[in-house]
Amino acid sequence: MALHTPEGYRAFTPDSLRPWLASLPALAARLGGSPQQWQISEVGDGNLNLVFLVDGTDGGVCVKQSLPYVRVVGESWPMPLERAWFEYQHAVVAGPHLAGLIPAPLHYDATLFASVVALLRPHRVLRGELLAGQRYPQAASAVAEFVARSAVHTSPLAQPLEAVAGQVAGFAANLALTRVTAELVFADPFEALPRNRWTSPQLDDTVAALRANAPLRAAVAELGHRFLTRREALLHGDLHTGSVMVSADDTRVIDAEFALYGPVGFDTGVFVANLLMAYFAQPGYSDSDAAHSGYADWLLEQVAVFWQHFARRYDALWAAHASGDAWPQRLFADADGQAAFAAGRARRLADIYQDTLGFAGAEIVRRITGFAHNADFERIADPALRARCEQAALALASELLLQPQAFGHIGAVLARAQAQADHHTATLEAAA
Ligand code: ADP
Ligand code: MG
Repeated sequence: MALHTPEGYRAFTPDSLRPWLASLPALAARLGGSPQQWQISEVGDGNLNLVFLVDGTDGGVCVKQSLPYVRVVGESWPMPLERAWFEYQHAVVAGPHLAGLIPAPLHYDATLFASVVALLRPHRVLRGELLAGQRYPQAASAVAEFVARSAVHTSPLAQPLEAVAGQVAGFAANLALTRVTAELVFADPFEALPRNRWTSPQLDDTVAALRANAPLRAAVAELGHRFLTRREALLHGDLHTGSVMVSADDTRVIDAEFALYGPVGFDTGVFVANLLMAYFAQPGYSDSDAAHSGYADWLLEQVAVFWQHFARRYDALWAAHASGDAWPQRLFADADGQAAFAAGRARRLADIYQDTLGFAGAEIVRRITGFAHNADFERIADPALRARCEQAALALASELLLQPQAFGHIGAVLARAQAQADHHTATLEAAA
């Protein structure tokens, strides 16, 4: 059964992409040489979309096209084509503030639902690099910089309310992917649904206990409510380690198709959760070189690097660009006002920190018990070993959701993560 698609839409193949690119003078010039010389490959690791990497003689482009369904599932899960537009719009709206942190947007085709951005070379996806035990000392702070700049510059802290209202309305139409998040993150893990899975039978009791825990369900529901109502700033919306590409000295955030106005702590929380899951998976690779070189400790440190960079930059950027309608600066020019403004910034950061903890907990729960799992745990072949790693992560996630006040500073999260990892997997290391 072919899904209905708008007049003129067709899914690209490498053969149909070449003449299309050749017909667009700016892109053809960027690629250089003749179209026959362009190397085109379809990456195939996209979850939702078609992604083509095109290397010309002079430069490269990446073409991302929506399919009318979820790629990893197939036509049984239809998905509106408009998501490509929202991803491109994210680059248009936030891009001017994110130079050097996203691939430059180059072209959008509204009929084909295809966007073209700069090809990242020689970048690789951060998640794969972390799986391979590689260290990228700049990555966590670059992603923090991405969130801090987006959070301040797209918000009414820095912009007139009219400009923000237009953007809020525009991204509010990104309904299909917002519904994916609302269901997959904030509801599905607590329901008996065929699309959920977990390491079974090892985690059966743990999952049953999570579902039976009404305070935990309420904590996640409360976060879901915030996600849908707190329109603080333009979010990336899916900021896991697979949405980041790195080279030795450069870090870029990709794949903003889930973009929406929401609580800043959602982006920080999802990224923190994915760093934590990379950490909790480490005992599962106890035979790897990374296991013997302090790599787990390095991963955990990145959580602190990320949060501290974010907090410092959010505060500094807000103080430097406070020209919006929220916190009007004319009211805080005097010495008392400056002190009150500084205290307000600190309160706001404390708020984002609390949100970060909660959203991180919700993200961990859904990645281990819901539909979309992380390669970090998935590649641990032994289910008993994987379950121990996942159990440690779930134990921390429950605490983040139920007792966020116990984590007064980010160091407390790291200490507790380490304690949970030691508790659940220490015996494994002793046996190895
Ligand atoms: P999806 O949303 O379908 O998952 P992504 O945007 O994550 O698609 O892209 C899929 C893959 O394509 C990425 O994991 C990465 O390997 C590659 N990719 C995406 N954008 C670029 C880019 N600008 N340059 C090079 N490779 C890219
Ligand atoms: Mg995607």
